[in-house]
Amino acid sequence: MNAPLLPGATLGVMGGGQLGRMFIHAAQRMGYFTAVLDPDADSPAGRVSHHHIVAEYLDAPGLGQLAETCDAITTEFENVPAPALARLAAYTTVSPAAASVAIAQDRAQEKAHFVRCGVPCAPYAVIETAEQLAAVDDALLPGILKTTRLGYDGKGQARVSTRAELASAWAVMKNVACVLEKMLPLAAECSVIVARGADGQMVNLPIQRNLHRDGILAVTEVYEENMPAAQVESALAAAKSIASGLNYVGVLCVEFFVLQDGSLVVNEIAPRPHNSGHASMDCCDVSQFELQVRTLAGLPLVQPRQHSPALMLNLLGDLWFVRSEQSTTPPWAEVLALPGAHLHLYGKAKASRGRKMGHLTLTGDSVQAVRAVALQAAALLGIEGF
Ligand code: ATP
Ligand code: MG
Repeated sequence: MNAPLLPGATLGVMGGGQLGRMFIHAAQRMGYFTAVLDPDADSPAGRVSHHHIVAEYLDAPGLGQLAETCDAITTEFENVPAPALARLAAYTTVSPAAASVAIAQDRAQEKAHFVRCGVPCAPYAVIETAEQLAAVDDALLPGILKTTRLGYDGKGQARVSTRAELASAWAVMKNVACVLEKMLPLAAECSVIVARGADGQMVNLPIQRNLHRDGILAVTEVYEENMPAAQVESALAAAKSIASGLNYVGVLCVEFFVLQDGSLVVNEIAPRPHNSGHASMDCCDVSQFELQVRTLAGLPLVQPRQHSPALMLNLLGDLWFVRSEQSTTPPWAEVLALPGAHLHLYGKAKASRGRKMGHLTLTGDSVQAVRAVALQAAALLGIEGF
């Protein structure tokens, strides 16, 4: 086992989005220097990092500069190409490994991994050829056609009810490799974040109950008994076996569907901190970003403890257009007058519909109090109730 990288070392991240920004904040708080590689000169993480390398993810000189600057490198963005991580790994410590990221980036490989781990997922078929399209079982309809690669926030997906709709949706996706997933009757959704060290030790954050709207996460609730104990147990066991099966090092989020009969099926994994884990910054003594720092630096992992019930509201760009057609700043002062309101904005200059601009976490001393304040915040912001 290598000695841990102690504060004073430089930690790097591929990708400059909000997840990278919150990783940078956590790393800097602990006394690390930081570097970001992102093609956007004005990226949310680049703005707050000691070093910002403006380069495409596969740019050899840019990768070389990042490797030279950093003692260890992680990733924050689903679509940072796995080969870029593989190249960096020739020079420095990289976690999660390119091989794990490559599996998470391809829905077909990801599902094959779930099957290998004995964790149930939605019935599906891989569609790469016209023959496979023709051979699709009718039992998969109605279903959701998803591109195997480069989807996020419900992008690269189409809901299809008939074979004709399936064929035309695949044509719209320019016949790229896809999976067709059976549409399942969901009672709820939840996710689990685990952190796994190079020595195989694992810790987890409390289970997150998630509400999606239009394919985008809208609300996450984290409190004891947000889910029945048996479901929590099986979600945790599944998440841990998925992480161990990958020999994963880093922070991994596993998203689940809860079916109407109470059973769980895994939806997908994210090889990084996840939007549904943001409440951990305000309701746990160790956040998902600190876990990312610890796994990357090879520091000890301690089981996080939740100290307050919490509810997170995603702040999408839509909220800037609630009051007028022109972009208008939401009423932050009113929101911040609410007890237990923690505002996180990602420093994105321009709001647009569907864009993740920030999130608001509400904490309190009881679930009822947190929910009541969260509903007030939602009303102020123009977020639909829940
Ligand atoms: P993200 O990266 O933001 O998690 P994504 O683009 O990868 O999103 P998915 O997680 O595949 O998309 O799907 C988004 C949402 O659509 C799910 O959280 C769920 O609400 C719904 N959904 C997806 N697949 C199914 C399914 N097979 N049956 C029922 N609902 C589904
Ligand atoms: Mg998802």
